Amino acid sequence: MTLIDSDPDTGLAPLKFAVAKNLAAKTPAERDAILANPGFGTHFTDHMVDICWSVGGGWHRPRVQPYGPIAMDPAAAVLHYGQEIFEGIKAYRHADGSIHTFRPDQNGRRLQRSARRLALPELPVSYFIQSLRELIAVDGAWVPGGADQSLYLRPFMFAKEAFLGVRPAHKVNYYVIASPAGAYFKGGVQPVSIWLSEDYSRAGKGGTGAAKTGGNYAASLLPQSEAYENECDQVVFLDEKRNVEELGGMNIIFVYKDGRIVTPQSESILEGITRDSILQLAIDRGHHVEGRAVSIGEWREGVASGDIVEVFACGTAAVVTPIGVLKGRDFLDEQPVGELALSLREELTDIQYGRREDRHGWLLRLDD
Ligand SMILES: *Cc1c(COP(=O)(O)O)cnc(C)c1O
Repeated sequence: MTLIDSDPDTGLAPLKFAVAKNLAAKTPAERDAILANPGFGTHFTDHMVDICWSVGGGWHRPRVQPYGPIAMDPAAAVLHYGQEIFEGIKAYRHADGSIHTFRPDQNGRRLQRSARRLALPELPVSYFIQSLRELIAVDGAWVPGGADQSLYLRPFMFAKEAFLGVRPAHKVNYYVIASPAGAYFKGGVQPVSIWLSEDYSRAGKGGTGAAKTGGNYAASLLPQSEAYENECDQVVFLDEKRNVEELGGMNIIFVYKDGRIVTPQSESILEGITRDSILQLAIDRGHHVEGRAVSIGEWREGVASGDIVEVFACGTAAVVTPIGVLKGRDFLDEQPVGELALSLREELTDIQYGRREDRHGWLLRLDD
């Protein structure tokens, strides 16, 4: 499969950020209490990045300001037509205290692809990376140092123009907020159960499936509730030809008994950077990797015949999650659990946390 190539724009002068310190920032003691048990997505750091864009003015007014509510007009286009995109990327604290992030050029380029599809302005990759650095410069102390902990960075962009006409907004804002994240799996990685969504899809041909946009998540919430009703943790979606796409927010990978690794490829799947990295590590180990259509029939028959020896999901939040059960309206298939998913997970997290050589040059130090 084609691995995402790297080509950040160069030659742009950095932005000059205005920094307004949060006078009500948490005390070190309050922060430490949060970092001792951060959970996921409930606590936020003291500051956020905010950059404006307009048709006439381009990117302007870059600033770091106290974290807090965003004032906007009730007619802001995002509230009506959902013109919004986002990213998800982590900052990791290494044993020597330094702070690093993982392949930010890839997230920057994906934000640009998402922007193109949602008719939003493309933030230069160098500005994207600078925005992460600027936030870490003021909130670096929020990067936790415990096992499997990280600071989850959430860049996002939306249509802020007050206008109820339907067209791409002329005023847009880009933000970065950050939330400390604890170990995703407490007490070791647990296989998850997956509900096969037969009535709903998350994306369609020519739609927005490959863009990281809120609307795709909105479309996945009802099938996700159906998964919970059926005692499953997550949903897997099919396309109109009954080929496997992905989970609501993670890509899926199949391991065959001859060592081949196969992942669904289509225009409506979001190209995960975790998946790309895991596949690269598997290639390095000598595995043959294929990106192609995988039908639900191939999955079920492959597991039944013993041809498929492992199935797992991957994404930035949980990194790698083995799939233990696939459940549909009239079947329940136990999934074979192998060693490869966890061994690739360990290799990847070792690189991210600086415990193993970064031979692909994937890490970027943020606090220098
Ligand atoms: C973000 C996301 C993924 C995983 O992408 P990573 O870059 O690995 O975090 C997979 N599927 C969807 C729908 C996503 O939004």
